[in-house]
Amino acid sequence: MNFLEERIVKDGIVKEGNVLKVDSFLNHQMDIHLFEQMGEEFKRRFAGKNINKILTIEASGIGIACIVAKYFDASVVFAKKSKSINIEGEMYVAEVESFTHKCKNQVIVSKKFLSPDDHVLIIDDFLANGCALQGLISIVHEAGATVEGIGIAIEKGFQPGGRIIRNFGFQLESLAIVDSMDATTGEITFREQ
Ligand code: 5GP
Repeated sequence: MNFLEERIVKDGIVKEGNVLKVDSFLNHQMDIHLFEQMGEEFKRRFAGKNINKILTIEASGIGIACIVAKYFDASVVFAKKSKSINIEGEMYVAEVESFTHKCKNQVIVSKKFLSPDDHVLIIDDFLANGCALQGLISIVHEAGATVEGIGIAIEKGFQPGGRIIRNFGFQLESLAIVDSMDATTGEITFREQ
């Protein structure tokens, strides 16, 4: 097991409805030392890629993205969730269905912060059905920028997002891929990488 898999086994809680709770170290209370290990590992996996910008989505991707950005000497932009529809013009917009909250959000990024010169690494905490990533990818494409890769902390491999995104041809690197988890026993199994 790698450092993240070990931490998930130690502190993660499997909930009903295919939800893994990792709020004691990843997306509520945040273990910055762990984030640094994640940054190092993403730097290794995306070695040789020319990345100048990290793109993530609020809220739980932001902390990870900021630490990862240090390893790429890149700036961070996060897509904001917005209910407003009067935002076209200066904003790139995509529609994203939330896995955890079961609602649709528009996510927006100002055109000032993403342009055709940008080489983007997309970072997020979880990959489930892939809606959040597809929204972020469409924003990068709308900007004429390049997706150099996608880095995820925890992919739930039994949900379809990973397969969909890899089929598009992107380099998708997930530090932990959960192949199964059981809310009754708390047992979690990981995919060999
Ligand atoms: P997707 O768009 O891939 O279906 O879901 C990705 C988003 O949903 C992530 O940004 C993450 O915030 C949230 N998410 C999905 N599955 C889980 C989960 O099992 N636990 C937690 N804490 N968040 C999740």
